[in-house]
Amino acid sequence: MNFILPHIQRLKPYASGAQPPGGSNVIKLNLNENPYPPSQNVLNVLRTIDEEALRLYPDARCDELREALAQQYGVDKKHTFCGNGSSEIISIIFTVFVESYSRIAIPDPSFSLYHSIASIHQVECVRIPTREDFSVDVDMLVESGAQVIVLVNPNAPTGRLLPFSDVERLVQNFPGLVIVDEAYIDFAESSLSAIPLIECYENLVVVRTFSKAYSLCGARVGYCFSNEKLINALEKGKGLYNVNIISQKLALAALQDQEYMKNTTAAVRRTRGAFSADLRRLGFDVIPSQTNFILCTPPPQMGENGAQELYEKLMERNIYVRYFKDTRLYDKLRISIGTKEEMDTLYNELHSLLVK
Ligand SMILES: *Cc1c(COP(=O)(O)O)cnc(C)c1O
Repeated sequence: MNFILPHIQRLKPYASGAQPPGGSNVIKLNLNENPYPPSQNVLNVLRTIDEEALRLYPDARCDELREALAQQYGVDKKHTFCGNGSSEIISIIFTVFVESYSRIAIPDPSFSLYHSIASIHQVECVRIPTREDFSVDVDMLVESGAQVIVLVNPNAPTGRLLPFSDVERLVQNFPGLVIVDEAYIDFAESSLSAIPLIECYENLVVVRTFSKAYSLCGARVGYCFSNEKLINALEKGKGLYNVNIISQKLALAALQDQEYMKNTTAAVRRTRGAFSADLRRLGFDVIPSQTNFILCTPPPQMGENGAQELYEKLMERNIYVRYFKDTRLYDKLRISIGTKEEMDTLYNELHSLLVK
């Protein structure tokens, strides 16, 4: 007997970046993790967690965290929602808003988790090619004929940011639901978030995460903003106690230290600028990034397989970066921005590999 549904049987598991074996001394620049520790505020709260917190169920509605998010972003608490990472929120969005056999439009390339989640829900992904320079074509998205649009902004793995006026034009002109994923927006130079648009348009969900800018990948807390009607639907579709009690406390503590988040994201931006300049000096083509990673093409003398070769050689030297086999990405590397020291080590390795 085969108990597995055919569309699940056909599924390719989501391909995440390589995880080095525990205890190994690896410079890990392949998952866009923040190189800095969480705020001291988070570490202090972590130390005060007692066994009573573990014995009891958490607040199923994440009230305290949502209140703090509402204050921080100047919205009503009724317009906020929390999940076990933004990945869970994206799954719940598909559960409650996206019909099986309908279509979503997503720029290509973009965050491939959306393709996996769409397949699980038997939803077709219409991939809308980004332009030559990887900028998103809003008109093509609007005219895709899909029921839902996903916009990762700034986009992954390209690092490109779509200006606010274009995001608004998209939400305004598209009759279906628009999901704007702002996982990386705190790393942008000057970013106007789509959050205020939830007050004016009823077809918008803005998804965010504590994973990247707040250095809490391991705690698994995501959040999103939308109108009351859509938020109520998300509440109905979620698992009962979806965010654990420890993570709720840690996310709240992280949110309350905005200064630390601002300082560490600014440090990432500075390192990003310096490292991009270093790469260009080595002959790389670097797409200007508004995130905590860069997408770059090794110099032409490396040949067709230059990116893959560098990826493998760096891995032998205990530096993990990301390589994608896709048509538009096969000649590129995605490199997360680590500390200045980590990027200097990487630069020296690249220099010795490239400059003979
Ligand atoms: C990292 C990332 C997420 C975050 O996932 P979490 O489940 O919150 O850790 C969401 N969207 C994009 C585009 C990402 O790169």
